[in-house]
Amino acid sequence: MTKKNHGTVGTKSVWAGEEEVLVHGATQVPVIVSVAYNYDDMDEWFDVAVGKKKGHIYGRNTNPTVQAFEEKVRILEGAEAATSFSTGMAAISNTLYTILRPGDRVVSIKDTYGGTNKIFTEFLPNINVDVALCETGDHEKIEAEVEKGCKILYLETPTNPTVKITDIKRMAKKGKEAGAIVIVDNTFATPINQNPLELGADLVLHSATKFLGGHADALGGVVCGSKELIEPIFHYREINGATLDPWAAYLLLRGMKTLKLRVIQQEKNAMELAKYLEKKDLVKDVYYPGLKTHVNHDIAKKQMKGFGGMLSFSLKGEMDAVRILLPNLTYANRAANLGAVETTYGPARTTSHIECTPEERAKMGIPEGLVRLSAGIEDTEDLIQDLEQAFAILEKSSVSLGS
Ligand SMILES: *Cc1c(COP(=O)(O)O)cnc(C)c1O
Repeated sequence: MTKKNHGTVGTKSVWAGEEEVLVHGATQVPVIVSVAYNYDDMDEWFDVAVGKKKGHIYGRNTNPTVQAFEEKVRILEGAEAATSFSTGMAAISNTLYTILRPGDRVVSIKDTYGGTNKIFTEFLPNINVDVALCETGDHEKIEAEVEKGCKILYLETPTNPTVKITDIKRMAKKGKEAGAIVIVDNTFATPINQNPLELGADLVLHSATKFLGGHADALGGVVCGSKELIEPIFHYREINGATLDPWAAYLLLRGMKTLKLRVIQQEKNAMELAKYLEKKDLVKDVYYPGLKTHVNHDIAKKQMKGFGGMLSFSLKGEMDAVRILLPNLTYANRAANLGAVETTYGPARTTSHIECTPEERAKMGIPEGLVRLSAGIEDTEDLIQDLEQAFAILEKSSVSLGS
């Protein structure tokens, strides 16, 4: 490991993982677009192909730019190994399909990311994998299900969109005792705020599309853990082909240079917006782990270094009020992504949980009028004033109180 891979987390996000790919004195990571690699020496080619020697053969398997991305995330998560994917969902599905066999059992929570939930409810049953989904935050229930035996304990914390928190340390301990592989989706927290591997998880994964990249211009996913667990996942991916594109890897790497700065400002904005919304008459509920009123505030305080940039809120006028409030915002994208430098608003029923029926959403505790808010890096005052003027318009309207 080179000297540049050390330092604390903010320094690592700038320097780590890049050195090997920097050639000709370049200070920035090159985008290596080559699909295949040339070998004049037949024996060397063979040695690289069978993994006896370091090098690259074909772009579906490995790529130097993509490897620099994997290295940076690996180092930030303090893992032994990492492998990347074309999207966050590819990271999740490839990981699950590598590990699971017919007859296996998975224990997870009800409000994982919408796509993950679909894998659990729609696709895994097809291969005869049984999935027990517990009420998020009901630690006793999760423990009871884990005790019955499972191959995977799959967690996501904070969750999308109600920002619920699960105690990773407590659950990982239970999972290990039951012989399960403990997986945590760390997309919302980022390695700046939470390190699941340190808390006892076996695998940590990310939709790099969100906070890691941070600019909503590249899709990607990554999973980190021990060599023993990552190698078969890499093998599954190299054969099945959900490879991260080198251009996307470059954009994600560039985004990660500013990860810590972004997260600090997003968090400051999220906290101020949450406090502002909490005082607003037209707001029914505000969900942010940084608020003392949040059900899991104590766990969040214990396991996270910061509360992150994600919050959600519901309005008294439900969707009718959302239809007025959101279009009247200036500094806002009304879009399905999150974790970007721009503040982004979206109703959960249109974004994270579009795949679910109203009944399914209700069962997950997601009100139809719930708005997910991903705080950007703008100046706090502008975001507050923007909401203030949009609320003034809503107040004048006839739907403001849900009539
Ligand atoms: C977006 C997201 C995913 C899926 O990632 P994609 O890059 O869109 O495939 C998974 N988990 C969480 C928590 C997410 O927010």
